[in-house]
Amino acid sequence: MAGAATEGKLSPALPLATLIGRELRGDGSERPLVRYGHSGFAKRGEDYFLVKPDCLRVPGDPSSAFSVFAVFDGHNGVSAAVFSKEKLLEHVMSAVPQGISREDWLQALPRALVAGFVKTDIDFQRKGETSGTTATLVVVDGFTVTVASVGDSRCILDTQGGEVSLLTVDHRLEENAEERERVTASGGEVSRLNLCGGQEVGPLRCWPGGLCLSRSIGDTDVGEFIVPIPHVKQVKLPNTGGRLIIASDGIWDALSSETAAQACRGLPAELAAKLVVKQALKTSGLKDDTTCVVVDIIPSDHCSTPPALSPKRNQNMLKSLIFGRRSHSSVGKLSKSASLSSVEEIFEEGSAMLEERLGRNFPSKANLPPFRCAICQVDQEPFEGLMTDNVGGCCSAPSTPWGGPYLCSDCRKKKDAMEGKRSSRSTTCR
Ligand SMILES: [Zn+2]
Repeated sequence: MAGAATEGKLSPALPLATLIGRELRGDGSERPLVRYGHSGFAKRGEDYFLVKPDCLRVPGDPSSAFSVFAVFDGHNGVSAAVFSKEKLLEHVMSAVPQGISREDWLQALPRALVAGFVKTDIDFQRKGETSGTTATLVVVDGFTVTVASVGDSRCILDTQGGEVSLLTVDHRLEENAEERERVTASGGEVSRLNLCGGQEVGPLRCWPGGLCLSRSIGDTDVGEFIVPIPHVKQVKLPNTGGRLIIASDGIWDALSSETAAQACRGLPAELAAKLVVKQALKTSGLKDDTTCVVVDIIPSDHCSTPPALSPKRNQNMLKSLIFGRRSHSSVGKLSKSASLSSVEEIFEEGSAMLEERLGRNFPSKANLPPFRCAICQVDQEPFEGLMTDNVGGCCSAPSTPWGGPYLCSDCRKKKDAMEGKRSSRSTTCR
């Protein structure tokens, strides 16, 4: 799938030219254009992607448009990836308070992303299926980009200044010591596969289950310390815009962030996605888990001929003109200063502790009911909620004091299970 859309796009009846014309006349807003393309192979068919260029924050109000893109790399079957593709965005959006300003909405997104990922995991596990998936969800609102991710799919950002930044963190046990510590502390065992004769092979995995990832959605047969709590990063792009490359691990095992960005500079998104995949295949020779979505965020005053993204001939000249010299090892570094030419870091948090992610005192301006669960958004009667808090369910494992917002009993069980305190799956006492 590939295509182009403006963020102001509401009705399919409006041709792109009309929308571009509006942007050019300046009667829309200063919002950038968003163009995208997709390519990829998944030999086992376990990769899925999501492209939703025309979401609305306020129903019926085109000025509240935003775009969503996602990559899901499933394992042990496709059902977790399919379920996440269908439900994750809905769950995230249901956790954002209604009737708030754009600024408040953007501020509420990181917390809503955590709630939406956890709710999707809880709902999927109720189905009793064992598959799992990575999930990298990207929300583009104007020049503000918010990325939430579990697993080892990645999102990188390439700006016209030539800086390439990684907006996600890999949740791979092999490469993430902090996650190994967390999994071990929560009761998991981290080791390599043990062949007969005691020979250890392959990457570090967690047991039970043998998964190489430390975070995912699904994976019901793996310990619950494999959590669905995403790393979230929110940045504001410079007014020159930028390019996002969202892809599954088959791409990143073959290409560095820099190489992927360089492979497709100067090309429109659709062609860029194809080239990144082609480059990865050339390097690794594997046609698996190589799903790639390229998203260009283009200043509207450049929309007719976006210089950096133009597919015009003489690409090499364009490249040198526009991107100039590359700075070395810029991956992962972001400028925290707000300037016209650099990326502004607004928010970043990767903790696996729900209390830290949902906040002790959520400054809600939306007057939410006091007993609405911060994860599943279900309202409970005050009496019911208090009982849950005081009694802690039928099992004897005590729940630790909780400084976060109100959670229903099921979501509280899930929280405890993720921290290794009890299983959320045993609903009866043994
Ligand atoms: Zn709940």
